[in-house]
Amino acid sequence: MPSLNVSQWPVRGNPLKDHQAARDSSEILIIGGGVIGICCAYYLALQGRKVTVIDKGELGAACSYGNAGLISISMPLAAPGAISKALKWMANPESPFYIKPRVSLELLSWIWCFQQACREKLMRKTIPLLRDLSRASLVLHEELAAKEGVSGSYTQSGLLMVFRSRQGLEAGIHEAKLFNEYAIQTDVLDVEAVRGMVPAASPSITGGIHYQEDGHLDPNQFVQALASLAIQKGVNVFPRTEVLGFETSDRKVTAVRTTRGDFGPGQVVLAAGAWSSSLAKDLRLNVHIQPAKGYSITVRRPLGWPSIPLMLSEAKVAVTPMQEKLRFAGTLELAGMEFSFNQRRISAILRAVREYVPEARENELIEIWRGLRPCTPDSLPIIEQSKSYENLIIATGHGMLGVSLGPITGKLVSQIASGEVPDINLSALTTARFQ
Ligand SMILES: Cc1cc2nc3c(=O)[nH]c(=O)nc-3n(C[C@H](O)[C@H](O)[C@H](O)COP(=O)(O)OP(=O)(O)OC[C@H]3O[C@@H](n4cnc5c(N)ncnc54)[C@H](O)[C@@H]3O)c2cc1C
Repeated sequence: MPSLNVSQWPVRGNPLKDHQAARDSSEILIIGGGVIGICCAYYLALQGRKVTVIDKGELGAACSYGNAGLISISMPLAAPGAISKALKWMANPESPFYIKPRVSLELLSWIWCFQQACREKLMRKTIPLLRDLSRASLVLHEELAAKEGVSGSYTQSGLLMVFRSRQGLEAGIHEAKLFNEYAIQTDVLDVEAVRGMVPAASPSITGGIHYQEDGHLDPNQFVQALASLAIQKGVNVFPRTEVLGFETSDRKVTAVRTTRGDFGPGQVVLAAGAWSSSLAKDLRLNVHIQPAKGYSITVRRPLGWPSIPLMLSEAKVAVTPMQEKLRFAGTLELAGMEFSFNQRRISAILRAVREYVPEARENELIEIWRGLRPCTPDSLPIIEQSKSYENLIIATGHGMLGVSLGPITGKLVSQIASGEVPDINLSALTTARFQ
C-alpha cells in the first residue's frame, strides 16, 4: 500500500452542498483524523457504516505524525516515584519530564489524579489492563499488516532498554520483575549481549533489558495507508474542516458546526487528541486530559543499523529505526496547548543519543518535530459511550500509547457504535473514573 503525503488528501464532496445528505441518522461523524480517528473510521467502515472523518488540519498531521512509533505492551507513566522525580526535574530545563508551573484548576486536578494513580495499588490495576489492550491491539496491527497490507513497515523485534548507570539498570530490573509478575516477558542482558545486538552502543553502557513482545512502525506511513484503505471502503474525509461548536437537544448532539457548514450525523465520535477536552467543554463535559509536548528528531539511518528500537533509559529517549530513517523521540512537558520548540530540550535528546549510541548522532538531519500527547492522569485512554449524550462516543486520552492502542480503540468504538458487547470490559476507561 503506497504511503501518501498528508497534503494529498482531496476533500471528497462538499459538506455545505451535501448538508442534507449529512443530516443522516445512519451516518457516523468522527472528529479528528489522527491515528485514533482513522482507526475508528476503518473498523466502522468494516461494519458497513456510513462514516465521515473531519479534521481541522490534514489527516495524521498532528501528534500521530512524528512520534516514536513503538507498539508497547505496558508502559504506565503514573508509577510510584513519578511525582518525586517530576518535582526534582522541574528545576532542570533539560529534564525528560516537566510541569510548567501555572495557575490552572484543571492542571491541579490532573496532578491530584496523577498522584493517586501513582500509588502502587492503582498502578497494579493499570498494568494488566494496558497489557490486555496492547496485546489485543498488537494482534490487530499484525492482522492489518498481513491481510490488508497496512503495516507502516510494522516489525516485531521487541524493545531494548539500555542503561548507563548501575543504579538505572537496577531500577530497570526491578521494573522488569514487576512486569514479569503480569506475564510480560523480559530478558536481562549484560554489556556483551547488548553490544551483540547494537554494536554501536557506547562503552559506557552497563546493560540492557529486552522486552520481547513490543513492535514498532512508521506512524505516519501507517496512518496514511489506513486512511487510504478506509477511503476505498467508502469513508468520506474532510480535512481543513474545523469544529466550531455543537447543537444539542434531548440528550443528543443534533449538529456539529464546522468551518465548512453543519453536519447532522446519527452518531459522533470525539477523537480530537489533545484538543478533545476543549471541544468537550462546549458539550459541558469534563474530559480529563492535559496536552503533553514531546519532540522527535529524525535522521538518515546509518548503514547496518539494527532493526531493534532502543529506549535510552535514564534519559527516556526512544531510538526507532523506520526503514531508511532513524528517529530519536522524548520529553514530556505539561505546558498547556503550546507548540513552541524548546531548543534546550531538543539538545538534551541529542546529547543523550551521543552518550548512548554516539554513531547515530552523526547522520544527516531529516526533520525536527513536536507534538502534543493527549494524556490522562492514569495512563489509560478514555473509550466510552457518553452518559450525557446517547449518540456521542469518546475515544481519546491515549497519552504515550496512541499508535500502540489505535487498532483496538477503533475496534472497540465500532462495537460500542453498533451496540455490541465490546471485546474488552471498558468500565475502567470511562470519564467517570476521575470524578
Ligand atoms: C515525542 C512523542 C513520542 C511518542 N511515541 C509514541 C510511541 O512510541 N508509541 C505510541 O503508541 N504513541 C506514541 N506517542 C503518542 C501518540 O503520538 C499519541 O498518543 C497519538 O498520536 C494520539 O492520537 P490522536 O488521534 O488521539 O491525536 P492526534 O494525532 O493529535 O489527532 C487529533 C486530530 O484532531 C484534530 N482536531 C483537533 N481539534 C479539532 C477541531 N476543532 N475540529 C476538527 N479537528 C480537530 C487535529 O487536527 C488532529 O489531527 C508519542 C507522542 C509524542 C509527542
